Amino acid sequence: MSLLAMLDGGAGATPCSAAGCAAPAAHALHWRNPRIHADDRVKTWAACDAHRGSLAERLRSRGFPVVETAFGETVERVA
Ligand SMILES: [Zn+2]
Repeated sequence: MSLLAMLDGGAGATPCSAAGCAAPAAHALHWRNPRIHADDRVKTWAACDAHRGSLAERLRSRGFPVVETAFGETVERVA
């Protein structure tokens, strides 16, 4: 995704990462798999209001650290 697309909240809005969901993302879930990712590696999922909880729960159930922010915010790392 281009930076311009990220800044444009209109037609180019990023959809939720949940399977089959096309709702625009309102939240970001930043996570890392400690078994394969270094400490400074951050993966980010986009989430709509409806899927924020279930996506975060799926990550936490695997033992992954998760940091939730508003969509568009970034984090340096997830502990
Ligand atoms: Zn969704």
